[in-house]
Amino acid sequence: MTDAVVVGSGPNGLAAALTLAASGVQVTVLEAADTIGGGTRSSALTLPGLVHDECSGFHPLAVDTPFSRSFDLASHGLTWRWADIEWAHPLDHGRGAAVWRSVDATAERLGSDGRSWRRIFGPLSRRFDDITEDFLRPMLHVPRHPVKLGRFGAYSMLPAAVLARRWSTPEARALFAGVAAHAFRPFGSPVSSAIGVALGTAAHRYGWPVAEGGSASIGRAITAQLGELGAKVETGVTVRSLEELGSPDIVMLDVAPAAAARIVGDRMPKRISRALTRYRHGPGSFKVEFAVQGGVPWTHEESRRAGTVHVGGTFEEIAGTEKDVLRGRMPERPFVLVGQQFVADPTRSRDGVHPLYTYAHVPAGYTGDATTAIEQQIERFAPGFRDRVLARHVTSTAGLEQHNANYVGGDVVTGANDPLQLVFRPRLALDPYTVGVDGVYLCSAATPPGAGAHGMCGYNAARSALDRLAR
Ligand SMILES: Cc1cc2nc3c(=O)[nH]c(=O)nc-3n(C[C@H](O)[C@H](O)[C@H](O)COP(=O)(O)OP(=O)(O)OC[C@H]3O[C@@H](n4cnc5c(N)ncnc54)[C@H](O)[C@@H]3O)c2cc1C
Repeated sequence: MTDAVVVGSGPNGLAAALTLAASGVQVTVLEAADTIGGGTRSSALTLPGLVHDECSGFHPLAVDTPFSRSFDLASHGLTWRWADIEWAHPLDHGRGAAVWRSVDATAERLGSDGRSWRRIFGPLSRRFDDITEDFLRPMLHVPRHPVKLGRFGAYSMLPAAVLARRWSTPEARALFAGVAAHAFRPFGSPVSSAIGVALGTAAHRYGWPVAEGGSASIGRAITAQLGELGAKVETGVTVRSLEELGSPDIVMLDVAPAAAARIVGDRMPKRISRALTRYRHGPGSFKVEFAVQGGVPWTHEESRRAGTVHVGGTFEEIAGTEKDVLRGRMPERPFVLVGQQFVADPTRSRDGVHPLYTYAHVPAGYTGDATTAIEQQIERFAPGFRDRVLARHVTSTAGLEQHNANYVGGDVVTGANDPLQLVFRPRLALDPYTVGVDGVYLCSAATPPGAGAHGMCGYNAARSALDRLAR
């Protein structure tokens, strides 16, 4: 019987494991941490009974993928929940804007910019199922839907600062700045629109759902199926070299590229080892969880009903802070992503006290404390916020990396989204999951299609391994 060892139990490691196990492979998953799930873990970080997502919170690209369609995660405990409003963006003096699932509902509230929002996101969201078929795979392939992909690609190639010229009101421009900032790229650089266009379109097509009971439900649902298929999962095991694994037919590495080069060691061809070691990581994140009595008193009413709130002010302000963090400078007023998962999933709160999820974009390896900056940014748009905070839990960039070795320097997206790495990650290769050693594959978010708790990197890597085995 074919056997496989999967190193790392992030969503990609688990997706690879399940894809292999479902094809009859005997799978063992080895996880360094004491709990499974990698970037999808959740726990009561502040007060007993409050469920905080330790990393990923929102899952627009996990809802409908070849992986999710192949496995019945719903019957194994995974339920998606949506807030009324996908994301909101407060501005000073109670102003702001918001994105609904419906393109029309969003556009109607954007005044003179509504037409342009509709013109971009309307056609893209109607065709998104076909577009994702192409972009959830490695880029080097003959596209199945070249025309639709072409339209998506034409917007994606643009610097965010150029695409944002389609809108003239501060509200619509800020709305786009917030979603474009997920790329951790300066807005003047080519392709810096790509992540914003993809996540914006996904908001209109699938929404930005949270997993009921916490993102940990994703890992639990996959692990439950793995158990049914006879796979083993061991925690508290850090793998340092291939030799420790015996000689399984397949090894899947759900690790960062440089870690893969270290684990495989001299057996990896030098040119591949060099490419993986040179893989570039992006800026860091500084995460603070709050227990908040009664939720955040946003002045902008729609922000109270949104799952995600992008805090950072105008397009120009966010463009400035994103440029700063990339240059290694900590901005005084950083971009802060605020997650109100409890709006969609009330099971996470207790007695009117809600778990609030926040992280600021900071320079890679930032050693300072961004807690006050995060609180001041929220207080700016929600006066009285601080008085409602009952407890906090802080994770620095070093803490993120300690918690999960894949987040090098606090880089939560496992690799800089610069133009080259966005398209060819982790290196230029026809099969980017291979590492030059028979049977050994890289399957983390450093491979296509990149970051997110969608499991598609693991699914694709496992399909590549199975195809090679069949040949
Ligand atoms: C703060 C934060 C917010 C995020 N928000 C979102 C979001 O809202 N939506 C979204 O889709 N994504 C989000 N992400 C990104 C998402 O979590 C990651 O892209 C995703 O988890 C990557 O999955 P992965 O399987 O590649 O690796 P990971 O989830 O990073 O898991 C890797 C696993 O491998 C283990 N490991 C590493 N090295 C070894 C070793 N040598 N031996 C054994 N085990 C090892 C680690 O302990 C870890 O458990 C966020 C991430 C963070 C940190």
